[in-house]
Amino acid sequence: MKVHKFGGASVCDANAVRNMRDIIQSQGKSSLLVVISAMGKSTNALERILALKNADQDYKHVLTNFKKYHTSICERLFNSSERLIFQKLEQLFVDLDQSLNKQYDNTDKMYDQVISFGELISTTIVHAFLHQSGTACEHLDARDIIITDSTFREGKVRWNATEKAVNSRIDRDSSCHYLTQGFIGADQYGNTLTLGREGSDFTAAIFASCLDAESVTIWKDVPGILNADPDHWKQTVKYDNLSYGEAAEMTYYGASVIHPKTIRPLAVKKIPLLVKSFKDPSAEGTRIGDIRHDTLKPALIFKKNQCLISFQVRDFSFINESKLSIIFHLFEEFNIHVNMMQSSAISFSVCVDSPDKKMKSLINGLRSEFDIFYNDHLELITVKNYENELVSNIRKGKIVLLEQRTRKNYQMLITT
Ligand code: ASP
Ligand code: MG
Repeated sequence: MKVHKFGGASVCDANAVRNMRDIIQSQGKSSLLVVISAMGKSTNALERILALKNADQDYKHVLTNFKKYHTSICERLFNSSERLIFQKLEQLFVDLDQSLNKQYDNTDKMYDQVISFGELISTTIVHAFLHQSGTACEHLDARDIIITDSTFREGKVRWNATEKAVNSRIDRDSSCHYLTQGFIGADQYGNTLTLGREGSDFTAAIFASCLDAESVTIWKDVPGILNADPDHWKQTVKYDNLSYGEAAEMTYYGASVIHPKTIRPLAVKKIPLLVKSFKDPSAEGTRIGDIRHDTLKPALIFKKNQCLISFQVRDFSFINESKLSIIFHLFEEFNIHVNMMQSSAISFSVCVDSPDKKMKSLINGLRSEFDIFYNDHLELITVKNYENELVSNIRKGKIVLLEQRTRKNYQMLITT
């Protein structure tokens, strides 16, 4: 069985959905598991609705646009005589309204109940469209299958329960395809959970791992994995092949092509991951697998909205292991990821994504022990497999606050 994942851009309008259908139909007869994201930027729209609602501001216009966007895709895909899909869509909008107006004991829980509608709506539309196009496929609710703990907004997968559910719901020798939502699952109490933004890639990897799939294909609007984001860098090159290790490291440093959790389950089972362009489906793309590289073109990863925080000791003591362990204990407790760090005699500096509420609590927790300084609005640039000439070109004219070089990687934190 093969797994295919289609992201928001690949189902962003009626023509994109038709193109997606053509891709599925060109894959031959054997059964596929197809994972779909929310259409276009609708997850962002739902986040905006939620933010306005939680700030007691008027969100109706954003919600109306959200509904119009999906309705107009349906109008372009279906005849108005196809009542069922319009009824289903209407029902989903009613459910969304209810979700928005329920009382919740926790805002992260509310987030997951509301945000999941992006995927619930997109799969409902795509399923009906595939059906209309003569492609038999069973619509699975990922919440019956992807079982997580109750960490809202970042559900941790319960692998045993999930594997059991996958195997009881999916027949690998089935004559029809399966279609399901990316990004969402449920805990043991039946609450909807999300897996973290852009989590549909991870969903595809979870299914592939549980099914011992032959391969996973992620369809994107780029020709494969490039050595830099083309919005940031002019002369990008595509990697034809990448090892699991290289791909995982790229996601760690912030390359946004694939969700960081995607690689591991695939690498463990040696399931190849193909990243291909839905605009040019017959082109090669990038194959990520169990391979060794001799040399690899440098990869450039630009991570904006970074913040540099320095913890300085006050009492002429030094930054020693016990001080570091106090700091790291809190980073772990608040689940804050450190993107780069450096230690000196009296100060320890970390680069993290720009502070949110959690970071502010962490800083407050450490104020009694350290003087704390921070700079905001920074950019972290990582060059994997760097060449010195490239690094000095990138560095030219930049104000560098922190810089590090290892044998393979170069990183600098600059002002913007
Ligand atoms: N729709 C979700 C998001 O935009 C998940 C995904 O697209 O992978 O983050
Ligand atoms: Mg996406």
